[in-house]
Amino acid sequence: MNKFNVLLIEDEKNICNFLSKTLSSQGYRVSCASTGNEALSLATSLCPDILLLDLGLPDMDGMEVIQRFRTWSNRPIIVVSARTLENDKVRALDAGADDYLTKPFGIYELMARIRTSLRHSNPSATNCNTLPHLYRAKGLEIDFFKRTITIDRQPVHLTPIEYKIVAFLAQNSGKVMTYSAVMNSVWGPYAESDNKILRVNMANIRRKLEKNPAEPIYIFTEVGVGYRMTDDEDTI
Ligand code: CA
Repeated sequence: MNKFNVLLIEDEKNICNFLSKTLSSQGYRVSCASTGNEALSLATSLCPDILLLDLGLPDMDGMEVIQRFRTWSNRPIIVVSARTLENDKVRALDAGADDYLTKPFGIYELMARIRTSLRHSNPSATNCNTLPHLYRAKGLEIDFFKRTITIDRQPVHLTPIEYKIVAFLAQNSGKVMTYSAVMNSVWGPYAESDNKILRVNMANIRRKLEKNPAEPIYIFTEVGVGYRMTDDEDTI
């Protein structure tokens, strides 16, 4: 018997019940979420080993669940969706899903895909704390789960794009991230090659975060290369 925790995110009761029973009979511990918000909340408290995710959820698109989960966890995600377009698959995989199965699917194939994903997932990352929920440096605090940013406990209001840029740099703090790496993570693989839009966003971010945008203390420019965010104080 295995002891893997599966988080099943599916709003159709029939599918949910069927998959729960089948997975339980194989020794998996199964938790169910029927909305994206419930899923993200359960994902932080249960530390699931793997996520099975339907894309069509009542409160948010499953793509958003993938993107948000990926800001703090690298556990495998298998998308199980009725969407059959190649473009949907590519978008889900680019956003950070590990595998994609279209409905209707065979239960043995799903079981095989789960075993494969678990085998390929990094065993050292089995506990929830490998990717931190928080980033802290010089009074700046980012809560990757709540998607909030504060400086000296005062909230900072960023647009969704600005938040994605800052969160990506914070998750990679201390390292230089190239312009194209940031563009890819924020706008996806179809991002324009011109980084003007990134520079415009960064100017706005600095106005909101830095006391003196000309002499930043949080996000540094490596001229001609990219950006580097100051080290997370918890990891130094
Ligand atoms: Ca659905």
